[in-house]
Amino acid sequence: MDVDCRALRDCLERLAAYHANLLADLVRLNSVVGQEKLVQTRVLSELQRLGLDVDVVHSRDDDQSMNLAARIPGKDGRRYRSLVLNAHADTAAVDAPPSWSHAPLAADIKDGRLYGRGSQDDKAGIVTILLALAAMQEIGLELGGDLVIHCVIEEETSGNGTRAVLARGYGGDGVIICDGTWPERAIYAHLGQASFRITIDGEAVAASNVRRTSHPFDRAVELVSALKERLAALHSGRGPFEGIDPPFFVNVGALHGGIWCGSVPAALTMDIQIGFAPPLDVAQVEAEVTAITRSIAGAAAEPWLLKREPFRADPANRLIAELIEVVRRGRGKDLTVQPVTGHTDMPFFSTPDICLHGPGGGAGAHGVDEYYILSHMPDVAQDLVLLSASWCWRDKA
Ligand SMILES: [Zn+2]
Repeated sequence: MDVDCRALRDCLERLAAYHANLLADLVRLNSVVGQEKLVQTRVLSELQRLGLDVDVVHSRDDDQSMNLAARIPGKDGRRYRSLVLNAHADTAAVDAPPSWSHAPLAADIKDGRLYGRGSQDDKAGIVTILLALAAMQEIGLELGGDLVIHCVIEEETSGNGTRAVLARGYGGDGVIICDGTWPERAIYAHLGQASFRITIDGEAVAASNVRRTSHPFDRAVELVSALKERLAALHSGRGPFEGIDPPFFVNVGALHGGIWCGSVPAALTMDIQIGFAPPLDVAQVEAEVTAITRSIAGAAAEPWLLKREPFRADPANRLIAELIEVVRRGRGKDLTVQPVTGHTDMPFFSTPDICLHGPGGGAGAHGVDEYYILSHMPDVAQDLVLLSASWCWRDKA
């Protein structure tokens, strides 16, 4: 269906201030993994304000577990292709707030940047989809196929949010995950990831007797270097994965243990995340990490939270081809199609027509002073509207 690009752009600009405020509201509601209900309740009310019939789907057995899914029926959903727009509400942990120059949950806006944990990753993704939906309604856009909306949790960990809404029947012929990337990029591939909680026993003796015992920290260092060596060996001779070189990493994300400098810690806990490339999969990486950890005295590894297989879609798939076309037509820009080292929810979808796009630029995702560039939101929302207007009028198959 043809869209009057000028009218659409005017409409998006008119709605932009409301959606910048909405993004600030969402950033002020902490939604670190396990505490997502407040923000999801707010998103639910926004979806209902737009008249959507929203299904609340649980992915965990606790009172915070809340995923949102809705299907907006097209004119003929059996004939025309459907499109899924997916974003996530859970955020990375807020690490060491004093090191931030803007309080992580204050949602300060300065020089067109909205600061705060989850601003770019991925509350801007949620709000960009809401902006696109509001604009489609205002310009009276009719679609042939269904539009399916996901606002999920647990993207940063198990992926169970997206899995739960898909199991409830909210799939589609094409998928855009609006998460953590710049307006002129589409992401088609990523490394696999798995995380582990490792415990290492120590002997709680006085510091002055440290030479008589095996310090758990020394064994932690030994273990991390053994893991790095093993990963390098497992990937050796295979070359880069989709240009990612080296296609693996080991991150020690947290290290806990001990009570003071005068004693050897009775135990250390180490949380690690590992990235890897195919043909390795999560099960193999778990087996390798378990075996290497067993070879270190007093150490044990427990697979924990994150399990994501490596993923590669065809970078020339039908959805990416159509997205390249609408970005060129709507904004006169060329889209770069690239891989990322991080993980996404793409592996859970069955359609080959999939990528990440939007919600726009920024920095500090999972780090300090995360921010989102607000001026990117109308650009990406415009892409989503134009893509829906063309993709959802194409015949299935
Ligand atoms: Zn994300």
